[in-house]
Amino acid sequence: MMIIDFRSDTFTKPTPGMLKAMTEAATGDDVFGEDPSINELEAMMAAYFGKEAAMYCPSGTMSNQIAIKVHTQPGDEVICSDVAHVYIYEGGGIAFNAGAQVRALEGDRGMITAAQVAAAINPDDVHKATTSLVCLENTSNRGGGCCYDVEEITRIKNVCRDNHLKLHLDGARLFNALVATGENPKTFGELFDTISVCLNKGMGCPMGSVLLGSTAFIKSARRVRKKLGGGLRQAGYMAATGLYAMEHHIARLAEDHLNAKQIAKYLLQKTFVGHMLPVETNILIFDVQDDWTPKLFTDYMKQEGILVTPISDTQIRMVLHLDITPEMVEKTCAVIAHME
Ligand SMILES: *Cc1c(COP(=O)(O)O)cnc(C)c1O
Repeated sequence: MMIIDFRSDTFTKPTPGMLKAMTEAATGDDVFGEDPSINELEAMMAAYFGKEAAMYCPSGTMSNQIAIKVHTQPGDEVICSDVAHVYIYEGGGIAFNAGAQVRALEGDRGMITAAQVAAAINPDDVHKATTSLVCLENTSNRGGGCCYDVEEITRIKNVCRDNHLKLHLDGARLFNALVATGENPKTFGELFDTISVCLNKGMGCPMGSVLLGSTAFIKSARRVRKKLGGGLRQAGYMAATGLYAMEHHIARLAEDHLNAKQIAKYLLQKTFVGHMLPVETNILIFDVQDDWTPKLFTDYMKQEGILVTPISDTQIRMVLHLDITPEMVEKTCAVIAHME
């Protein structure tokens, strides 16, 4: 049976073209700064986002954690949404790696506002933790892949500037946001002190993330990456997948977004599908109701070869990606149409 895997956009396999790019890659020792493919990827990504420098990392979690560590001192406070990946899905890394604590704000689908940020900054008072960093996430994972309003980000940036706070973007799916909104990547480079982007999600690479920032920031970040064991040696074969994806896998994200909308249309015709978060990119998050539970829905779909994730007592998550073909979308819609 054809297996259709909507559990995450991290289940993609390298395409033949990507595998070929890997086998032909030049490599060296990146800890010595001598891996030509990593150097090329870092330079290209920095230029793409209009940042001075970039650093290749094994994972998005490591990129985020390094950024948080460099931007804070132990005992500082980091402001983010209460459903931010950096807060709820990185193993308590903010406390473990940076010794910092979190001020988690209840946002709209994981998106917080400038007014909320301004109100959450601690006064200069010995009783209080020093607020030093704000982290945003775009697209927002638990927000169903929603895209931040750039005007709101600009207001948040102004609050940060006025209060001497750093602003970091967890851009694991920033490419999805760029494709969905048509925004210029350099706008994000200007707004944020630092950005992490994932290559292992919609970009379809087997691993990797890139952390972007100023030259001075990346110099510090390289020291932290080494301490975490993230200094890579002959990883040019992996960086080559990133170079390949930058050329071949960005524009196609629009297909994932269209597919997500198509499946949403079929789901929303069903009375057992309750509230669905607005579908802006490649993620569907919806409630099941009546006699259906997320477990029943997941089991039913599994019998049809369709894999989805129950993410709460009421919600299902489905993620579109590179390995979901038109045929798979058609079959999924047909299965949904036949459900009672
Ligand atoms: C997947 C993800 C990450 C981290 O990615 P890994 O490479 O799996 O460590 C960070 N932020 C968000 C929003 C993500 O979805």
